[in-house]
Order: sequence, then structure tokens, then C-alpha cells
Amino acid sequence: MSRFFSTRHSRLDAYTPGEQINSSWLIKLNTNESPFPPTARTNEYVARAADKANLYPELSSGRLRELLSEIYDVEPDNIFISNSSDEALDCSFLAFFDENNPVSFPDITYGFYPVFAELYGIPYNTVPLRDDFTIDYRDYLSIPGSVVIANPNAPTGIAMKRDEIEQIIRSNPDRIVLIDEAYIDFGGESCVPLTKKYDNLIVTQTFSKSRSLAGARLGFAIASKEIILDLETIRYSTNPYNVNRLSVAAGTAALEDNEIYMQRCRQIIATRERITHELCAMGFEILPSSCNFVFARNAAMGGKELYLELRRRNILVRHFDQPRISDFLRITIGTDSQMDTLIAAVKEILTEAKQ
Ligand SMILES: *Cc1c(COP(=O)(O)O)cnc(C)c1O
Repeated sequence: MSRFFSTRHSRLDAYTPGEQINSSWLIKLNTNESPFPPTARTNEYVARAADKANLYPELSSGRLRELLSEIYDVEPDNIFISNSSDEALDCSFLAFFDENNPVSFPDITYGFYPVFAELYGIPYNTVPLRDDFTIDYRDYLSIPGSVVIANPNAPTGIAMKRDEIEQIIRSNPDRIVLIDEAYIDFGGESCVPLTKKYDNLIVTQTFSKSRSLAGARLGFAIASKEIILDLETIRYSTNPYNVNRLSVAAGTAALEDNEIYMQRCRQIIATRERITHELCAMGFEILPSSCNFVFARNAAMGGKELYLELRRRNILVRHFDQPRISDFLRITIGTDSQMDTLIAAVKEILTEAKQ
């Protein structure tokens, strides 16, 4: 730390992303990216946009917004387009939570929520998951303050029912309920339709997981027009050109090819079910996943040890050294062939451990 760093931030405990090692010999199953490259249309649109990279991007991202509005059946002005869904979350924390508007979220969830809260001096409260790692919606009914929930939750992968979330939204009409749907395309029930009914709901989504664009950094929020205007005020107060021309082009191509991406999601789901079966047969406990990853533990070996053994075999998964979940590994669902390699490696590791 330099001697100039504001004392306001001197104790910030920043978010720790999963390792980003991009080597061809490594099977990367640690940050829930899509194993499939973007479609051919992406190259074409990005190349065209690159020709105009001397010009600032269009402020409204018109065509991208139109396509989102068609796919999600909301008006264009119900959409906030952001440089990643992390940015949509960031703007929401900055816009709606403060000393007088504390925020609650589960004790085990996306690690960025407490970081945003710390950054902006927002008091926060963590609500323990049940012993089976599910969220009890009753814990959030009329809770004093706003609520942030990842649905499906990460890293557990477990989804809540839309009805349960609706009860939370209804019980806190004067506070924001923010639902982070980063993994919604892999099986959960989206709350986007509820944004028409409740003016205190924000839903965020991302192009990073289901649409193969983690490298493009593109996300969005859907909410009432008034909430979107507030988010736009934050955007115009920090970075009006928050999404770049190339990413907007890539996102537009992804939405024009939406059917291809949704088909790939179904393929990932099928692979997830197969892998769940195979890991269970090897003695793993797997939480019921609605995501493009599984959260798994094996009584025969600790999470850290299994993580290290897999790493020695050039397979990277995610281990969280934190209470309640240190026995688990979060394993991204890759291609069938990547998963076959994983299964073979796990078998070998467990067999060796037994000897
Ligand atoms: C990956 C992830 C995000 C962030 O997505 P980006 O759009 O890549 O920033 C947000 N929330 C959860 C729960 C995630 O897992």
C-alpha cells in the first residue's frame, strides 16, 4: 500500500477471482466459463465494430437493447446495459444501499457482495444457509433492509423457487430486492417477469456464462424504468461509455444466435446430470445444481487435497478455504471430453489414496 491510499480504503479486503491461467495443457474448470467459443457471427460483428473503434460507442446500445427487450419481454427502458454483471451489481450497491439502507445476503454466496458493501461503507448482515445449503426464504421476510440473493446461488448451485422469492419481494415493498441471475439459463426460474409487478425488484444477468462471452465483459439489469434511470445516473456519474463497441457487437451477435446458446445450455445441463451420476457412484455428495457447475465433496478426501491432486494432473477446479464449505470443490461443467478426463483423474486419485 502506498502512503497515499485513502484511509477510507486502507482495510479493504478485495475480491479474489479464480485463477486465470490460460494454457492449452490445462483443463480449466474453475471459473464457470463456457467451454464453447462464441459463434462465427461474433467474429463478423466484432470485426465490423473494430473498424469504427476510433469513435465512442453509441450511448444507448440500441440494437443490443432491442434484442434484449424482445428476448426478455420488457421495454427497452427497463434495461440497464453494463460492462459485466459485476458492474450492474456495483452500480446497484452504490445507487440503493447506504448507512440507512443496510443489506442482507446469505453467509455462503457470491464473494463480491461483502466487498461492494465494504467499499461503499454499507452495513451488511449475513444470513446462514440451512444445513442442507438451501436458502430459507422465511429468513428474509420483512428483514430490516435490502436483500441480495444469487438465484441459483453460488457456489452451492442450488436454485430457489420463484414463488419464494416473490414472497420476499412482497414482504419488503419499501426496500430493494436484488436477484443475481448469473446462472439462470442453466435451470432456475427467472424473476424477470416479476419486474413488471414489483417496483422494488432488480434482476441482473450476464453474457459471461451461458453466452460464451466472459472475455467481453457484458451484463445487464432489468427493473422498473425509475430504477433504471437511477442506475443511468450512476453510470453517467462514473463512466458513460461503460460498454465498448466490440463487446456490444459481440453481445448483439450472441442474441441473434440466442437459440444456439440456449441449445448449448441444454447440452451443459445434460453433461452436468451425467457427471453428477458418475461422481455420486464414486462416493461424492453433490448439491442439486441448476448451474453450469457442481458443488461436490467426498468423505474420503478433503477439498483442498483433492484440489491439489487435480491440479497436479493439470485440471483446475475451485476450492474455497472458508467455513462450512472447505470440504467441497466447485467444478465447472466443460465439454464431455473434458469431463471424462476429470472423472478418470478423480478415479485415479481416490484409488491411489486408498492404497
Ligand atoms: C460470474 C458471476 C457474476 C459476474 O459475472 P460477470 O458478468 O462476468 O461480471 C455475478 N454473480 C455471480 C453469482 C457469478 O457467479
